[in-house]
Amino acid sequence: MTSPILRRLSTTLLALLTLAAATGAAFLLSPALQQRLFDRAAERFTAAPDQSLLKDDALRVAVCGSSAPLPSAERAKACVAVFAGGKFYIVDAGPESVENLVMWNIPLSSIGGVLLTHFHSDHIGDLGELNLQTWAGGRPGPLAVYGGPGVERVVNGFNDAYRIDQGYRTAHHTERVMPSATWPMVPHPVELQGAPTAALDRTGLVLEEGGLRITAIEVNHAPVSPAYAYRFDYKGRSVVVTGDLKYHPPLAKAAAGADLLVSEAIAKPMTRALQKAALSSGRERTAAIMHDIEDYHIEPEQAASIANEARVKLLVFYHLLPAPDGLLPRRLFAQGLNTARKGEWTIADDGSLYTLPIGSGEVREGRIPR
Ligand SMILES: [Zn+2]
Ligand SMILES: [Zn+2]
Repeated sequence: MTSPILRRLSTTLLALLTLAAATGAAFLLSPALQQRLFDRAAERFTAAPDQSLLKDDALRVAVCGSSAPLPSAERAKACVAVFAGGKFYIVDAGPESVENLVMWNIPLSSIGGVLLTHFHSDHIGDLGELNLQTWAGGRPGPLAVYGGPGVERVVNGFNDAYRIDQGYRTAHHTERVMPSATWPMVPHPVELQGAPTAALDRTGLVLEEGGLRITAIEVNHAPVSPAYAYRFDYKGRSVVVTGDLKYHPPLAKAAAGADLLVSEAIAKPMTRALQKAALSSGRERTAAIMHDIEDYHIEPEQAASIANEARVKLLVFYHLLPAPDGLLPRRLFAQGLNTARKGEWTIADDGSLYTLPIGSGEVREGRIPR
């Protein structure tokens, strides 16, 4: 039985707690406090761009979009950012990826160019936004967009679609803030060397400046053509980003000795499950698409075999088909890799960062600083 003293004490305590909660709630409801909290958030939101990724002590690779066309709440579609020599380059601008770049608060004006692997929508959908955001970020000149033949049509199409928007913005904010001269993207078709081969094994130089060399590598994403991977070599460190491809053994030669191979991948046991489920719910069109995509994407073990042959240090999976969100789906996606891969491998998320310090063979895995 509780004593009267204890009863009185607990009643007093309850009253005090109720009063504290009411005072706290009233405090939180005060517009002055809300404004102060928002002022702090605004300072963070508009902080000066973070220059750390551009430091010239490493080749850095960040995944700005890790999913394929199937929707994922946690991932943008195909996008890889490569930081070298004080600039960054974007390999594919998949839908939603530009929001990642903006949220990371990297210096958008330091973009060196965009490289399109091919013209599927999950690789080009955010190109207009990328141009807009880097322009608004103070890019000093027009944005160069590299890709296979056909890149002119894609770039000119985006320029056309956004031209009215550009007019509004320049008129509203003035030429000083939104200069029309630096706005339009410029297409740069990349030609491969030599006559076409049945093996699809040609390469072509994209650019060479300040110690950075970017090479286009022909890959097989048939019936989609042209389809390229890109290799970046900078001061003894290197990365190859695949874009989409089916199993393509010639890639091992072009990726030989790369520190990093960032490869797309399809997990067929998972896409087949989706196909089966779509069929049983009467979504025949979805099931047909799930079936058709099988023949032009690479499986994790196949990418592992290329990485092994190329003696790549770290194999990174992105453009995940489907996105394995959660621990068990990740294990399912990667089943068989520990036996197939002679070396390291990992599955990227949006914001995964790989740092390759100059003058060492080290590969550091981390996250984009937020
Ligand atoms: Zn794709
Ligand atoms: Zn594709």
